[in-house]
Amino acid sequence: MVKPLINGFKKFRNNYFDKERKFFNRLTKRGQKPKIMVISCSDSRVDPAILFNTRAGELFVVRNVANLVPPYEPDDGYHGVSAAIEFAVRDLKVKDIVILGHAFCGGIEALCNACKNEIEGIQESNENKKEFINSWISISKKAILDLDLNDWHGPTQHLAEKASIRNSLNNLMSFPWISKLVSNNNLMLHGWWFDMENASLWSINQKNNEFERLIPK
Ligand SMILES: [Zn+2]
Repeated sequence: MVKPLINGFKKFRNNYFDKERKFFNRLTKRGQKPKIMVISCSDSRVDPAILFNTRAGELFVVRNVANLVPPYEPDDGYHGVSAAIEFAVRDLKVKDIVILGHAFCGGIEALCNACKNEIEGIQESNENKKEFINSWISISKKAILDLDLNDWHGPTQHLAEKASIRNSLNNLMSFPWISKLVSNNNLMLHGWWFDMENASLWSINQKNNEFERLIPK
């Protein structure tokens, strides 16, 4: 099953690495200096490097189920996403953080389902109960409870995806060193949503907190 990856790596060596030796040498010797962090979904259809046509070293990426940012909780927990954010902001000193959500997100679907079941008092069977996903996606629970989750497929699901991006932006601001940098204009936060059906990119307008289409204009 992994054969395509081996072949893909051969192509990377021949078509990319060999032609850009100087570039890779520089990256190796000088280390990485990405200016942008992207927090995106683990979804196989939403690869930031492909979507934004970037080169190695350009993006510092953390991917997780439903592109969520947890709130600031400096305790002894295993905070993988917060650790990546800390490294990007405090060590690499990125200038922008993009939260990249997307249409038809399975993680947000699971969240909509879980909230709907909870509202209707439906208990999940032990057999179906997820050990980690439910607590992870509950990060965005409060952001979607105002939506009519009766029939969440279609437009409501997209509203939930967007509400969750806003929630993650708020959570980013709960990190004290992030809010300080943002207030000093040394760090910019962006909420983007990828409409994979139409290959369009939407962005939150910070003036009214609404999503506006960025590409195509
Ligand atoms: Zn997703």
